[in-house]
Amino acid sequence: MLLEATGLTRRFAPGDAPAVQDVDLGIEESEIFAILGPSGCGKTTTLRLLAGFERPDAGTVRLDGRMLCNADSGPGERFVPPEERSLGFVFQDYALFPHLSVLENAAFGLKGQPDAEARAEDALEKVGLSGLEDRSPHALSGGQQQRVALARALAQRPPVVLLDEPFSGLDALLRQETRDRVRQRFKDAGTTALLVTHDQQEALSFADRVAVMKGGRIEQVGTPEEVYDRPRTLFVAQFLGRTNLLFSEAEGEEAETPLGRLRLSRAAEGQVLLSLRPEHLTLEAAGKQAASPGEVVDRAFKGHDITYRVAHPDGAEYLVHTPSRVTFAEGDEVRIQPQAPAVVLERGDAADLQTGEANFGKAN
Ligand code: ATP
Repeated sequence: MLLEATGLTRRFAPGDAPAVQDVDLGIEESEIFAILGPSGCGKTTTLRLLAGFERPDAGTVRLDGRMLCNADSGPGERFVPPEERSLGFVFQDYALFPHLSVLENAAFGLKGQPDAEARAEDALEKVGLSGLEDRSPHALSGGQQQRVALARALAQRPPVVLLDEPFSGLDALLRQETRDRVRQRFKDAGTTALLVTHDQQEALSFADRVAVMKGGRIEQVGTPEEVYDRPRTLFVAQFLGRTNLLFSEAEGEEAETPLGRLRLSRAAEGQVLLSLRPEHLTLEAAGKQAASPGEVVDRAFKGHDITYRVAHPDGAEYLVHTPSRVTFAEGDEVRIQPQAPAVVLERGDAADLQTGEANFGKAN
């Protein structure tokens, strides 16, 4: 692991719940890692603890094996200040100096170093801004300004660059374009990066691995596919996208449900809460003899796909996401066909479930 944290805990006031609690993280060299979670879950505090802008109450931070901070060692604890950690940091408001050129902005952290200009030029080239060195920041688009801020961090050649919601100031189209471009540059250069964001799409498309955070704790770490397709908890299932939830009785690898006998993601016994993403279901015409078909109550056409809301005889409504060639109309009788095993969510989660709601995850 290049950057590693164990047991990181930070409580801002005695008696308050910790903002960050017992967080373990490990980021590999050349990996792009995202911490994803709702507002106030402790993402920024985690990043600040790693950078050294905050001191933890407990836990350790190591960079390439070197102890940067050890709050577990009692008196004489180790704490390397941020300026000696050599980590790059890109803030949410990427404030550039308006009176300095692009090149001077990129070289800002390298004052007094003989190769400052060459390193700033190299960093600008990495983020695709060669040729704009003499411009003023106000003559750049928002996405270009963001990349100057990135170049300023990269020019210092940090072993890890930490990014706090770096794309949030950009409008939707520019945001996606800038993000894709930055990801490509990071991958080409083998940059190790840690991003924090509350945007699911951003985390899933930008990162190689994602840690999902809730209430100061990490709920799950995995590849985007793992956390999306196989959420461990109800929170992860609902935070990463819409999902259908079903209570049922598990018998080993299968469970009897209103959608028929389903294969499960893992063996379980007794009452379980299952999650099935809308795109893991499809629809078939009910046919004349089909017992208890469902009925399409709503459809939303989105170009390459369609989302259907289907009322089932069990009284629940299910969301089904199909390619746009699978077409049904409102009022059609249909059968819902699961295409993937149902994911068994961890016990204890059921307590989080809002009763009286429809059986699918909240829209995001
Ligand atoms: P956002 O996405 O809104 O930036 P976040 O996940 O980054 O949220 P943090 O900024 O880490 O969350 O805050 C976590 C919790 O700690 C919040 O309840 C916040 O109010 C609290 N907090 C953060 N900084 C301080 C501080 N300096 N003093 C007291 N409480 C703080």
